[in-house]
Amino acid sequence: MDLELTDEQRLIQATAREFTEREIVERARENDRNEHFDLELVGKIAAQGYLGSIVPEQYGGAGLDYLSYGLIVEEVGRGCSSMRTVVSVNTSLVCSAILRWGTEEQKHRYLPKLCRGEWLGCFGLTEPDTGSDAANQRTRARRSNGGWLINGAKMWISLGNHAKVALLFAQTDPEKKHRGLAAFLVDTDQPGFQPQLIHHKLGLRGSDTAAISLDDVEVGEDGLLGEVGDGFKIAMSSLDSGRYSVAAGCVGICQGSLDASVKYAKERVQFGRPIASFQLVQEMLADMALQTDAARMLVWRAGYLKDTGQPSTTETSVAKLYATEAAIQCANTAIQVHGGSGYVDDYPVERYLRDVRVTSLYEGTSQIQKLIIGRALTGINALVPQ
Ligand SMILES: Cc1cc2nc3c(=O)[nH]c(=O)nc-3n(C[C@H](O)[C@H](O)[C@H](O)COP(=O)(O)OP(=O)(O)OC[C@H]3O[C@@H](n4cnc5c(N)ncnc54)[C@H](O)[C@@H]3O)c2cc1C
Repeated sequence: MDLELTDEQRLIQATAREFTEREIVERARENDRNEHFDLELVGKIAAQGYLGSIVPEQYGGAGLDYLSYGLIVEEVGRGCSSMRTVVSVNTSLVCSAILRWGTEEQKHRYLPKLCRGEWLGCFGLTEPDTGSDAANQRTRARRSNGGWLINGAKMWISLGNHAKVALLFAQTDPEKKHRGLAAFLVDTDQPGFQPQLIHHKLGLRGSDTAAISLDDVEVGEDGLLGEVGDGFKIAMSSLDSGRYSVAAGCVGICQGSLDASVKYAKERVQFGRPIASFQLVQEMLADMALQTDAARMLVWRAGYLKDTGQPSTTETSVAKLYATEAAIQCANTAIQVHGGSGYVDDYPVERYLRDVRVTSLYEGTSQIQKLIIGRALTGINALVPQ
């Protein structure tokens, strides 16, 4: 694995950094304060090509490698996790699944619009009674008039109120358990698709999160992604890309926490000298630097494995587990460095902490990542009864 970025990757990184500073950072605080899902900003992010960076150019994407995608997500994540969520969900959870499992017709129908941001996609796996045990879907799909009717409910769905296309998972035959699951590309304008905005979140207040009820939602046979029975595999393949993206965004939070803390520590004077001169403050900065570097290296390793076509599920879980927990700690430490000033939104660090808290919950909690890693180490799957 080469730790040196190519000239093109450096340019992509510098462009994403400059774009984030100019367009995203400015708006992050106000959008957070107002719980505003900033569609205008989403449009600018789409115009940068950041909603389909790993999608090949023939389907309207930027055709980038995973490492480059991770560099972009890190920068966007440093600026605003709510906007990073848009990039991650649209690109990793939805586009990557269509790219891997879709027919040519489905790829041409959905991907160019999703990459341009003309449509947003959402990913509906979680249900009110189904979280970590994702195979246990209560939402049902049954055949009707040459297509499908979907009934059930989804919970905590990012972009669920604004998406035009929903990748929904449903059970077609409960007796088959996870082998009965299917994935559907659903037009959210269909009657019976009813999203409801979830308010009062701890963080990600500038992102759109929905509870969705599904009442006889019609999907044509051409909306089935993959085959009946592929649903669980499709969900896991989306999450493999999504976990990488969440981890990359968390590297951005680590770096943002460190940068803000170094700056503040050099400016803030106590006992007649900058607090940066105190050894215990330097220890906090050093701890953050360590976690930032380690998280980034793990993300780059996962990206390298994906780009070279090697197995990467375990390494992606390692990166997601470490980067999310590291980012939670870095954001918390950054508030400590800022003292009372870190407790209000004059500085980005309190938003970092509120926003990052969810990352060890979604796309597989930290406990679930540990069980994936444990399965790789022991060959024993703790998620199924022994
Ligand atoms: C803001 C936000 C956005 C989200 N966006 C999406 C989205 O776009 N699409 C989507 O489908 N979902 C989304 N989610 C849902 C998220 O993926 C779930 O919350 C997550 O998978 C955990 O499920 P749960 O909340 O039901 O917790 P539970 O599964 O009930 O877990 C509760 C606790 O029990 C632990 N636990 C559960 N099972 C085990 C086990 N076998 N061993 C050890 N510990 C265990 C968990 O680790 C956790 O600590 C989002 C959630 C939030 C909060």
